[in-house]
Amino acid sequence: MSSYGHLPPYQAPTEDPRQTHPGTQQPRPKVAPGPPGYQPGGSPYPQNTSNFQQDQYAQTPQNGYGYGATPVQDQGYFSPQGQIPTDDPGSMGGLASQMGGMGLGGETAAVSRPGKKKNRHAYHNIDQPTVAAQAFNQSTGNAAQYVNQDPPQQMSAGQPITPAMNQFPAQVNPPFSPALQSSSQNPGFGAPVQTITTPSGPGVSAQGRVDPEQIPSIPRARDGATQYYLDHVYPTIEQHIPPPGAVPFVAHDQGNSSPKFARLTLNNIPSTSDSLSTTGLPLGLVLQPLASLSFGEQPIPVLDFGDVGPPRCRRCRAYINPFMTFRSGGNKLVCNMCTFPNDVSPEYFAPTDPSGVRVDRAQRPELTTGTVEYLVPKEYWAKEPVGLRWLFVIDVSQDAVSKGFLAAFCDGILAALYGEGDERVSDEDPDGEIPEASRKIPIGSKVGIVTFDKAMHFYNCNDELEQAQMLVMSDIEDPFVPLGSNGLFVDPYKSKSIIVSLLAQLPKLFSQVKNPEPALLPTLESAVSSLSATGGKIVCSLASLPTWGPGRLVLRDKNDLHGIESEKKLFQTDHPGFKKLAGRMVESGVGIDFFIAAPAGRYMDIAAIGHLSAVSGGETYFYPNYVAPRDSLQLSLEIKHTVTRETGYQALMKVRCSNGLQVTSYHGNFLQHTFGADLEFGVIDADKAIGVMFSYDGKLDSKLDAHFQCALLYTTASGERRVRCTNTVAGVSEHAVECMKFIDQEAVVNIMAKEAATRMTERPLKDIRNVLTEKSIDILAGYRKTISGSHPPGQLVLPENLKEFSMYILGLTKTRAYKAGHEPSDRRTHTMRQLKSMSPTELSLFLYPRILPLHSLPPESGFPDPTTGHLVVPPTIRASFSRIEDGGAYLVDDGQICILWLHAHVSPNLLEDLFGPGYTSLQSLDPMLNALPILETHLNAQVRNILAYWGSVRGSKAITIQLARQGLDGSEYEFARMLVEDRNNEAQSYVDWLVNLHRHIQMELSGQRRREDGSGGGISTMGMENAMAGITSLWTGKEG
Ligand SMILES: [Zn+2]
Repeated sequence: MSSYGHLPPYQAPTEDPRQTHPGTQQPRPKVAPGPPGYQPGGSPYPQNTSNFQQDQYAQTPQNGYGYGATPVQDQGYFSPQGQIPTDDPGSMGGLASQMGGMGLGGETAAVSRPGKKKNRHAYHNIDQPTVAAQAFNQSTGNAAQYVNQDPPQQMSAGQPITPAMNQFPAQVNPPFSPALQSSSQNPGFGAPVQTITTPSGPGVSAQGRVDPEQIPSIPRARDGATQYYLDHVYPTIEQHIPPPGAVPFVAHDQGNSSPKFARLTLNNIPSTSDSLSTTGLPLGLVLQPLASLSFGEQPIPVLDFGDVGPPRCRRCRAYINPFMTFRSGGNKLVCNMCTFPNDVSPEYFAPTDPSGVRVDRAQRPELTTGTVEYLVPKEYWAKEPVGLRWLFVIDVSQDAVSKGFLAAFCDGILAALYGEGDERVSDEDPDGEIPEASRKIPIGSKVGIVTFDKAMHFYNCNDELEQAQMLVMSDIEDPFVPLGSNGLFVDPYKSKSIIVSLLAQLPKLFSQVKNPEPALLPTLESAVSSLSATGGKIVCSLASLPTWGPGRLVLRDKNDLHGIESEKKLFQTDHPGFKKLAGRMVESGVGIDFFIAAPAGRYMDIAAIGHLSAVSGGETYFYPNYVAPRDSLQLSLEIKHTVTRETGYQALMKVRCSNGLQVTSYHGNFLQHTFGADLEFGVIDADKAIGVMFSYDGKLDSKLDAHFQCALLYTTASGERRVRCTNTVAGVSEHAVECMKFIDQEAVVNIMAKEAATRMTERPLKDIRNVLTEKSIDILAGYRKTISGSHPPGQLVLPENLKEFSMYILGLTKTRAYKAGHEPSDRRTHTMRQLKSMSPTELSLFLYPRILPLHSLPPESGFPDPTTGHLVVPPTIRASFSRIEDGGAYLVDDGQICILWLHAHVSPNLLEDLFGPGYTSLQSLDPMLNALPILETHLNAQVRNILAYWGSVRGSKAITIQLARQGLDGSEYEFARMLVEDRNNEAQSYVDWLVNLHRHIQMELSGQRRREDGSGGGISTMGMENAMAGITSLWTGKEG
């Protein structure tokens, strides 16, 4: 691993490339004049030319869905089209350098990997976008997935699907603010600055005095962006603020990575630490390196540079990327991270044209694409890469059998490997060859099966056997693996009949044994031993606290520590066995996903068990009240998802950044031995995100851009060793006011959530909530101070890009991780680890669910639009009980569970349309229902289509439904919890929260603020105290 991740000693650059910066000579693409005002530090980015807002959303009539009738917006949302002088025109030349003419000519870039099809990276002309530009979920090939597509009979022109984009009355004379202009490049949907008048004076209840319609609405913002991105591509260089988290979109990689892989909190970065401090914002990057792509997006290029490997900077080891520049006729390669001018090796040399661009640039994806993969030679190997070994470790003890968890888990494995029902038999090939299309896991990957109760059982599933052979290992004090890897790990398609029959027999077999206590730790130690030669992934089920054998766990949470200082002990483990095993897993290139059922909500010590998945890069699926008939579908779908999602193993990650910045901390689920070391992952998958925080070790040059590169070295499931590079660029500005136009609030919230999760084991929960509150005040007050507007003090001013920020933070303080009041430690710990690894999409839904009324669905909703082919997605409503109508039916989805809530007076006709003839009352419905039956009714098809669509735009959890009938089901409690705008979860309502924030902002502005996070100082003091870490740490306490 010597060539990976070790920084050579720092040397001063021998030449300052700024003086010969090619950016100044390069041609720029000819584009139509863009909206004025957007020049972050003088960016030469091509401007976005579309006037989408006026075209699409302004002046639309209020839609007719019967909620929240509000004044019609009667003017566009752009400020008058006046030129705004920029502070530093012509700066930020770095970006233009290799980007000039970037892929706009419809050229075809070849992939240099031999044997790969050419033409797979045909770039699109931005003005006439082709494939990718069409849309998300376009009709071609996609509409077919939706059921009952006959054009809905009642569709008429009188029911336009044009949600008004802003529910607020237009300001008559909007006060001048630079932020007004900046919004023109951001399809953020609504007024650039939101002002709310709140009652003044402490102790005044806001409810009833602030119009709840006036406060920023996450559903409106999401729905508007969703509509916009149905027929707009996100061009990664031209646009600077990514779509909101839960909004599906198609990105066009123009050299800057798609926001699916990387999102910066600030897409224009202050040049100094002091300047950043004034904003109160963290400088951070949310990385999701293996994120899945949408239909219509270009696959990630896979490039092979043979034995020499990809070109890298000799000094900082950054990989070649579109922002490195060539000069001296192509002989020198100037690094965009450290500015070192490298010699270009003869095999990589190509001349540059008169403008300084390499003549072969268009054929080289590494010079045009922000996210690429490099096949890497042996020096990057830790061990011989092989196809991924999946080891299913199945709990067969008494609780697993009797709760139906074992049967459901076995069925889930079968569904994951061989598909559902009919699919499972249809892929038999008479010649014994398995067509690749019917494989659920790639060629080369293998599976093994182990079961355990107080002993462990290994299964030889070799395809030469008639049936699986069981080898029992009852010596759990000193276990070994009684089976060579050839018998344990088999091709699941060659051994299909053996595996199918084994998994079908297991529940019956162990129903006669009934050992009550599972011995988890010794079993996992053996499992890791069986994988130590290759690395791999363990998928383990568990249905009761493992109280048997070495490393047994005990009931630690006795309900006596809640709310007191030592409660945090319950959120972590001191168990030496589990801690040691976690380290051994990562070292062996092994990661683990747990599927844990806690029947009747019993204690499972998630802190100790889940520690293994948290450290090894895996995931814990936790079913706190597992009930077999209801939850088995979700279990099965989630096993399928975990096996079929993109998974890499034996991974190392390093993030590099421009001179002047440094990484201060990482937050996520991984192992980092020492500060500054590479992050290590046993496994990493498509759903996992990592937060990276930066501070300044110097001043950034506002004439250059700031660059970030994440390099993930990993082995693919098919057994190839690769590096995935994710390159991200941001502008640099001397003025914080410029930077505030390019805040990505979803990234800010994600970073704050991840850092708070890291601190949960160090600080009392009350401190964590206080810090989140104080940071929100810092950020909003920072905006008020920076943008010296003329708003009266009675107005809460929310910048366009932070409009929904406060609500997300309120949602965060209401999660089970941080909320006040009693909460079992298992739930708190589980939520904490989820927050650490959640992607922006998953987190956004988790903090603010989407709620859809079903009783008032317009007829065309849930079907493809006949002209565009897009699924017509109806508007969602605010998460508040005040929006719930008598007799209503609602779907509530927070990305983890989806509840179908039915009002006591819901129409019998609606019930019959949804559930079938005879189901006319709430009492007649089966509370164990987990999916809708397939009916011929219009409503049933609409809802199934919408659920299928939602299932495609969320994170790692499967979508099934859980009934919550008013007055009948316990899940109503969950429903109430998810109405996050209300006063619940031991926290304020949204309105009261805003009023509270506003009061503190006013006090901060008048110098009277008393901080409650225990830091005892204001922003400036905080900056002083953390001179090394800068403001990037949200925490003034001890640094982790
Ligand atoms: Zn370098």
